[in-house]
Amino acid sequence: MFWPRGVWRGRLWSVAVVPGGIAVNLPLMNMPLVNSCEAHACAYNTDHSCHALAITVGNEPRAHCDTFFGDDSSGGDPVQTGHVGACKMSDCEHNVHLECQAPGINVGYVENQVDCLTYAPA
Ligand code: SF4
Ligand code: SF4
Repeated sequence: MFWPRGVWRGRLWSVAVVPGGIAVNLPLMNMPLVNSCEAHACAYNTDHSCHALAITVGNEPRAHCDTFFGDDSSGGDPVQTGHVGACKMSDCEHNVHLECQAPGINVGYVENQVDCLTYAPA
């Protein structure tokens, strides 16, 4: 089985192609966008845009981008904008069941650490 993916109207979609050629449309994923990211040293960053399909945020007590990878290689999908896949900051007002419910987040430096700037302790 393989899982073609793309973006339609700003939402990620995927289709499961199973043996026998039957394709199953899966629900559109409603994951928050990474609107901007200042961490140009990250392998997933191009011109302040994140291209990781699903980042993980949080390593309490800080709202780190746990997906940050300081490397010269180029990661992610260059034609897609990054999304928040999971967040461990349960005390954030945007967090429900360890998932981010904000429409989008911004990521940047706080005390030389790469953090979610949208983090809002409840
Ligand atoms: S949001 Fe995280 S993974 Fe994406 S470019 Fe910024 S530091 Fe890298
Ligand atoms: S806004 Fe809050 S819930 Fe969303 S990624 Fe940032 S810290 Fe996590």
